[in-house]
Amino acid sequence: MSIDSVRFALFAALVLALPSIAMAESPAAPPGTRPDALSEPPPRDTAALCPLPSRPEEKLVHKNVPEAHVAVPDYAGLPATPVAPELTGSIRRVELPAGRKLVALTFDLCETPNEVAGYDGEILDTLRAEHVAATFFAGGHWALTHADRFGEMAADGSFEIGNHTWTHANLRLADPEKLRREILAPIAAFSTVAGQSMCRRPDATADAPMPRPRLFRFPFGACNPTSMQAVNAAGMLAIQWDVSTDDASPLMSADAIVKSTLPEVRPGSIILAHANGRGYHTGSALPRLIRELRARGYAFVTVSELLAAGRPVITASCYNERPGDTDKYDTWGLHKAAAQPKSQPPSTAAPAKLPAATPAQSGRIN
Ligand SMILES: [Zn+2]
Repeated sequence: MSIDSVRFALFAALVLALPSIAMAESPAAPPGTRPDALSEPPPRDTAALCPLPSRPEEKLVHKNVPEAHVAVPDYAGLPATPVAPELTGSIRRVELPAGRKLVALTFDLCETPNEVAGYDGEILDTLRAEHVAATFFAGGHWALTHADRFGEMAADGSFEIGNHTWTHANLRLADPEKLRREILAPIAAFSTVAGQSMCRRPDATADAPMPRPRLFRFPFGACNPTSMQAVNAAGMLAIQWDVSTDDASPLMSADAIVKSTLPEVRPGSIILAHANGRGYHTGSALPRLIRELRARGYAFVTVSELLAAGRPVITASCYNERPGDTDKYDTWGLHKAAAQPKSQPPSTAAPAKLPAATPAQSGRIN
């Protein structure tokens, strides 16, 4: 019996049991007793049920659907311990001791308010099959609209979950209230979803179903001093990247991703990609990237593991390849129609590269 069949059978059994449960709760039941039907169920074999097989259709992005309307979780009163002063700023890579060849694969799970973005199961399947550790930067909104998948990921000891804001706002443009919501609401969302998941970490408790996110990634890779201070004050390290796969561009084939990424990787690199359906050929490029990097002597670790292995390379500002190159996203709406292919929405994690138009827009954009 397949895992899907097992799950369906459990669901069917529950549905069939409901009428008898309702009947058993009739006044005929003696006060203070519980009918057998309501007794504690046997422990579930979560190892067999988590994760469920991926399905290609999960990668699709759905705009303006009812499922996109999710409530903002209550984030008031969340405790926070600011990060140490020496770790404030934009972390781009990690300087490692000589001879160590570690690299961190990171995948953004971005989602804007009126959409249900995708889940690229091909990526997760490959990572698990190859026993590759990775870090996912999830939007809080994405976590709520992909509760089952988020629960699986949060329970997987090979994966680290970072915060990618509530609804992928450009935090350079956010007012104080929005800034707080975008930074803090995902923390509440993650905890809620992980706590409700059938997939549980071995170290999970009722109060802490998953570790509180220690990492944060700015949407569009865009920050300013105010938003950086807010992220660091909330206890999260701002993690950027030094290598982009450029996978948010539909123009990048799997072959192009592999060929352009490999030469950029060095020990301590943090590699940017997407797993929300807007990494267009990431899934087909990933097996080759893993194989080629391993052949070059690299091992894969989470971002926190990478940080623990060396000294982070930190810059005061956020940028893609050079300071100031993400400033254009402050006026994204003014030029996106002219500059962006119609098939490529501007809400990707890190907006994909545009055709070079002006000197200010030249260079790779992620
Ligand atoms: Zn994003």
